[in-house]
Amino acid sequence: MPLLRNLEGNLGETRRVMEKFWILWEYLKLRWYRKARYHRPYMERIRNQRAKSWRKRLAKSPFYVSYQQAPLEEFPVVNKALFMENFDAINVAGITKEEAFRVALQAEESRDFSPTIGDITVGLSSGTSGNKGIFLANGYERAQWVATVLDRIIGWSWKHRKVAFFLRANSNLYESVKSRLLTFEFFDILQPLKGHAVRLARYQPDILVAQPSVLRDVVLEMKKQGITPSVSRVISVAEVLDPEDQNQFSDFFGVRVEQVYQCTEGFLAHTCEEGNLHFNEDWLMIERNYLDEKKDRFHPVITDYFRRTQPVIRYELNDIIHPGPPCACGLASQTIARIEGRADDVFRLSNTAGEVFTIYPDFLRRAVIGASDSITDYRVTQVSERRITYYLEVEGGSDLDLVQVQVEKALRRLFDRLALDFVDIVYTTEIARIPGAKRIRIHNAHRPTV
Ligand SMILES: [Zn+2]
Repeated sequence: MPLLRNLEGNLGETRRVMEKFWILWEYLKLRWYRKARYHRPYMERIRNQRAKSWRKRLAKSPFYVSYQQAPLEEFPVVNKALFMENFDAINVAGITKEEAFRVALQAEESRDFSPTIGDITVGLSSGTSGNKGIFLANGYERAQWVATVLDRIIGWSWKHRKVAFFLRANSNLYESVKSRLLTFEFFDILQPLKGHAVRLARYQPDILVAQPSVLRDVVLEMKKQGITPSVSRVISVAEVLDPEDQNQFSDFFGVRVEQVYQCTEGFLAHTCEEGNLHFNEDWLMIERNYLDEKKDRFHPVITDYFRRTQPVIRYELNDIIHPGPPCACGLASQTIARIEGRADDVFRLSNTAGEVFTIYPDFLRRAVIGASDSITDYRVTQVSERRITYYLEVEGGSDLDLVQVQVEKALRRLFDRLALDFVDIVYTTEIARIPGAKRIRIHNAHRPTV
């Protein structure tokens, strides 16, 4: 049926042209309003404008239609579980959770990276505890996302630039940005790293994008092979970037390592010229659910005025955020001093009297890395109510036994300070490395049944 094939080809071509046009349109709009980012009242005005068309679209969401005229504070706060439970009623496309899962899982198995239902892309988030989330975006939202990435991360340049992308799965999103000015090379992180280091040296990218655990392996492999890096920007994504790693990568690549805070729930924050992370508050409303009395840690509760197919409204993320001070770059948006990890990985250890103590990942991280300069990698895992395990990698030539003693002492000191009178600290020689999975250095594997 050559006629039908031709027609399909033409439709595909038309869609690609449309997507490029939308990207350009959205990009120009972001540029037009760029001054709003430096002036809070102006920024809020722009956000309110965006909220107006967002409200109109809620008419098609069975879950939100009755809230259409309500102030934002009256919308229910949802978490991942609630969001997934009400999946069918929240999205405006009438897609059921079963259908979306079936399409996404099929794509995952066949490693076809562009699962769609009609024009709607189905994305699967990598839930670590079996609670995978699913996200929907139409062609316009995809174009908008690309435009925001171009505006906030890649930046405009007339010079041709090459981007090396280390990913678990390629995506047709990057194909849509490909142009004479920007080319992408995809490095599959499920493939052995040895070949990647050589390919990277040959490709000579201007921008290198990868998650910290992959960056770490890339650095080690390049050092081993005596390859000198030649990139002008390094961007860390997907995992928590610890300050120690950030410094080490910056030293090796000779550039400041930038961060992008982005998850399936949206593109949340980017690094500014001063090196600080800023929330994209010109289209996101960020409410805070504080975790302690000092108000120095919170879960962001996000409302995204750009999302269309699947509204993200007062969605509470379980990431632990430390707010930062105003930034010298002049952007009016809230800064993030640090992303500490996920609430699921906060340790909850109990003493012999049965009292439960909360220990945030940062305390454990500082105890471990403060114990010795020769630690190159580590894991600390809570495995039961009163037992933790730890794993260490040290620099070649260092005495692992000695470092073990130092780390154990440091952890013991931390627990003593908290009056945790009995915690079993066990050294483990092995950790499970699942290719492509996110690395979590401080992990709570103990889920008490409440
Ligand atoms: Zn800044």
